[in-house]
Amino acid sequence: MKRQCIGLLGGTFNPIHNGHLQMANEVCQQLNLDHVRLIPNRLPPHKSEVEVSGIQRLQMARIATKALPHLVVDDCELNRHQPSYTVDTLAEFRDSHPNASINFIIGMDSLMSFERWHQHRRILALANLVVCQRQGLALPTSLPQHLLDRLTEDKSQICHRANGAILVTQITPMAVSSTEVRQRLLNKEEVSDCIPAAVMDFIRSNRLYGLGEAPTGKV
Ligand code: ATP
Repeated sequence: MKRQCIGLLGGTFNPIHNGHLQMANEVCQQLNLDHVRLIPNRLPPHKSEVEVSGIQRLQMARIATKALPHLVVDDCELNRHQPSYTVDTLAEFRDSHPNASINFIIGMDSLMSFERWHQHRRILALANLVVCQRQGLALPTSLPQHLLDRLTEDKSQICHRANGAILVTQITPMAVSSTEVRQRLLNKEEVSDCIPAAVMDFIRSNRLYGLGEAPTGKV
């Protein structure tokens, strides 16, 4: 029987954008995953929760993935009382999926800081890491040997591994970030190339990201 093979994509999704959707879609297809779970993080209180709540970030993720059945939005981190570490989410997921291949998906920018993540070695004991190219960033030359030793290019094998491998994969580059989307919205600039139209409708009707402060103008 084929091992269950699941992708997990954690992020602030503030807001979710086409780069997130592209990476989730392409990794799902490339690795033949059963599905990818998008897991909005709980933000520390000082980080914009005031203007955009976790529930609203969750709703935007649900709206963006409505027609994409292989992308599942998971509110497990938002249901906790405090911001949690990735390792805790993975440990919980491993408990409920003891035999699955769990593939935690990150962008290359996140790999740069991976060594500083809380219990990063344990993360690799719980899951594989799937690293997507981003902004032309190359594999960091400073990556420590114990991470280099885990690198694989073999996409067909990743679902046979429950954990421990690091796969770097090319996806169609999409130079978009949530920071840029928020900035453009504040400037009343066009964002239709960055986020789905239905997410824009939600942002507009809930007056998020400064859209309540002036006539909606160009956006
Ligand atoms: P912000 O600009 O607010 O920091 P972000 O656009 O980086 O947000 P996150 O929700 O923090 O989005 O990202 C979640 C994960 O998705 C991270 O691992 C990040 O590296 C990755 N990611 C986000 N956008 C892209 C993209 N355009 N291409 C590849 N990876 C991406």
